[in-house]
Amino acid sequence: MTETDAYVIAPPDRALLPVAGTSQSFPVRRIYCVGRNYVAHVREMGGDEMRDPPIFFQKPADSIVPDGALIPYPPMTSNYHYELELVVALKKGGRNIPVADALDCIYGYGIGLDMTRRDLQMDLGKSGLPWEAGKAFDNSCPCGPIHPVETVGHVLEGTIQLAVDGEPRQDSDLKLMIWKVPEIIANLSKYFMLKPGDIILTGTPAGVGPVVPGNELVGSIDKLGTLRVRIGS
Ligand code: MN
Repeated sequence: MTETDAYVIAPPDRALLPVAGTSQSFPVRRIYCVGRNYVAHVREMGGDEMRDPPIFFQKPADSIVPDGALIPYPPMTSNYHYELELVVALKKGGRNIPVADALDCIYGYGIGLDMTRRDLQMDLGKSGLPWEAGKAFDNSCPCGPIHPVETVGHVLEGTIQLAVDGEPRQDSDLKLMIWKVPEIIANLSKYFMLKPGDIILTGTPAGVGPVVPGNELVGSIDKLGTLRVRIGS
């Protein structure tokens, strides 16, 4: 069979992230996200339980948009929010991974945005319905290059900051996560068989808010550089 005969339609593109300092790419299998992982953000969202089990959800791999992109303002929302997050990229997976082994699964770290249709997320949540349409939509995961552990080490503390049009909006430290990176991996692997190529967005600090067409978002995390995107119409 020729390549053209193997599929009934053209196969979709594989989601890729560039690896910083190389010409290689990190192939993305799944995008997992953690909800409510910084105390100050839990409070701003109206919650108060600080050590509830972590909340997990997914975004489709093809919701990734690269650093420098112009993102179209999404449909069906009038309250489109940024959430700046540390991204963990896995080179190894498994089920029931012990906390002590979790760091060995990590290939590298990056900067991501969990873009959110907050109005849909809130309305669906209040009705006890899945968040899907509020979180897992097209272009909802801007993500910068992956920085390998072998060059930056493990990125478990340091500043995480976001500015909109040059104005600071989020400013925290990775060490303020409620569930630390190894605990996130251990917990997530109880629910899902993790595999190489999975990435995890580890939750956002306080200061989330809306953006409008024309806004420029610049996220930065110590040792990982910046992620810059602009909101289109
Ligand atoms: Mn988030």
